[in-house]
Amino acid sequence: MSAVEALKAARAAGVELALDGDDLALKAASAPPAAVLDALSLHKAQIMVLLRPAEDGWSVEDWQVFFEERAGIVEFDGGLPRAEAEAQAFACCVVEWLNHNPECSPAGRCLGCGDREHAHDPLLPYGVEPAGHVWLHSRCWPAWYEARKAKAASALAAMGIMASKPDISVTACA
Ligand SMILES: [Zn+2]
Repeated sequence: MSAVEALKAARAAGVELALDGDDLALKAASAPPAAVLDALSLHKAQIMVLLRPAEDGWSVEDWQVFFEERAGIVEFDGGLPRAEAEAQAFACCVVEWLNHNPECSPAGRCLGCGDREHAHDPLLPYGVEPAGHVWLHSRCWPAWYEARKAKAASALAAMGIMASKPDISVTACA
């Protein structure tokens, strides 16, 4: 079991984890399975890192909880099969990750091909982040956006967030 998996297993077993100074605080209504406790103590240092918010304000645990909540809503309230619920929740995580990790590029150069603006081929601003815009030719946008989504998907996978049938074609999140 990796640290990311141990964190998920602990939550699934009803264990609440929190940072307590230099220590890891555990809260559970009943005694957690020995395998979970072993994994937690084995990966303690790394789990503490996973509980710490990253630059974008969310910890790995925040992302896992967000994914599980979305999947649960779609599965139970929406009545969809688990695989589909996970695919939708995953798409929501991708959208959320892109919002958390905005990119901006200086005006005058296309972030996709590096070329400048031409009269017949204007550069368009994409994105509404306060951080700024990304400037791209409209023909360069699809490939750039696919690459951004792939980056989001691999960042999410590294946090243990995966769907059995990932669908990152979704660009909005219900
Ligand atoms: Zn371009």
